[in-house]
Amino acid sequence: MKKIDVNADLTGLVEKEFESLHSGGGRSSIRGGQSAADQALSNLNIAGYSKNRSEVLPLQSRGASQLSPYIRHNLLPLQRVWDHVAKAPFADREKYRDELLWQEYARHLYARIGKRLFNNLRFEQVWDKPGNGWPEGMACVDFATSELEEDGWLVNQSRMWLASHWTVRNEFGWLHGQEEMYRHLIDGSRAANLLGWQWTVGTGTGKPYGFARWQVEKRAPQLCGGCALKNRCPIEKFPNELSLDEAPFEGLLLSDPDLEATTGPTSVKENKSPTTVLLTIDSMGDADPALVANPHLPVVFIFNDGALRKLQLSSKRIYFYLETLQDLAKRRQLTVYLGDPYEFAQQNSVALTYAPVPSFAKFKNLAELHPYLWLRKPHAKSVRSFSAWRGKSA
Ligand SMILES: Cc1cc2nc3c(=O)[nH]c(=O)nc-3n(C[C@H](O)[C@H](O)[C@H](O)COP(=O)(O)OP(=O)(O)OC[C@H]3O[C@@H](n4cnc5c(N)ncnc54)[C@H](O)[C@@H]3O)c2cc1C
Repeated sequence: MKKIDVNADLTGLVEKEFESLHSGGGRSSIRGGQSAADQALSNLNIAGYSKNRSEVLPLQSRGASQLSPYIRHNLLPLQRVWDHVAKAPFADREKYRDELLWQEYARHLYARIGKRLFNNLRFEQVWDKPGNGWPEGMACVDFATSELEEDGWLVNQSRMWLASHWTVRNEFGWLHGQEEMYRHLIDGSRAANLLGWQWTVGTGTGKPYGFARWQVEKRAPQLCGGCALKNRCPIEKFPNELSLDEAPFEGLLLSDPDLEATTGPTSVKENKSPTTVLLTIDSMGDADPALVANPHLPVVFIFNDGALRKLQLSSKRIYFYLETLQDLAKRRQLTVYLGDPYEFAQQNSVALTYAPVPSFAKFKNLAELHPYLWLRKPHAKSVRSFSAWRGKSA
């Protein structure tokens, strides 16, 4: 285990300590940290959201809230954001809460089916064919990929363009496309990213989303005017409509044989007195239940160096985590390491909050395990579509 001084200059830290653990890509304009998250929430105004959430350009026309990096790491728990918009205009509030529920749905789906979400879910689609589905030259695709690479954040509309262009038009495997997007997104979560790709390319619904000039003219009209290919646009027409074959149906989508495992603990499980609170990437905020329950204990965060070496995430993500930890260190006694969090949890008495991700099963012998902050309690009924899931959970 190697100790990291998060109060040091972060640029030097990333260069020195994380040298072979990321794939470059600078720093995002979106700052990490509970203080930044609180500020973003207090600035939130969703009036006009239902009309403008899909606008891409001009920038000032965007209705998206850009809270996703904070929501993804539970700096802003979904319930807090849900409550915060209670007084917003009806249509905007309903639409916004609907999107928060999509986030919750992604978490429930991933918690239940785990790594199966890396395969075609309900319909067959090009899945693992290698290749780059975002060739350069089109102003719309270049704009979206440069936002992704430079800032690590995109509005939902541009994510759909990119996912569709990669697989539905260019017929490269969506698994590789989602990996490329995941490396850059500072809100990157397996649950939401895999769901987003599966729903766009049609494996979740049977209806691939077609991306054509029409959407660009509607959502970012200035791009086509300046495009070198404006008179021979390769996406002038929608891609051919495909009828996808049904994939072998996954029984787990229809019912959950082990709801307890999906949900995690519903009350605190105490085995012995903890001496440390361990935070994970899935719960880095001040509302983390293990953190709240143990206000006087020191806190530890461990960058999993083995996983980082393999994933080669963009440095934007590393900076976001370091900024978050630097901010936390102002309020709590915090030690940060590069090493193996599972080994640390085995060898120390840690209090930890459950996370609904497959890798959580690697944590053993926990001193204290706290429930996850669900917005809706998981149920054992169908999760094969958002509406099936929601109908049963609302
Ligand atoms: C191909 C693809 C990949 C995606 N990858 C991710 C990802 O890795 N991480 C991620 O958090 N979201 C992902 N999404 C969902 C969505 O695009 C982002 O959550 C949203 O664009 C974030 O911007 P925002 O905070 O301004 O969202 P807003 O529109 O302001 O919505 C508020 C919040 O609702 C949630 N939300 C909104 N739309 C969705 C959605 N379609 N699915 C799940 N949650 C949603 C997010 O938490 C978001 O912050 C992906 C979507 C697609 C199509």
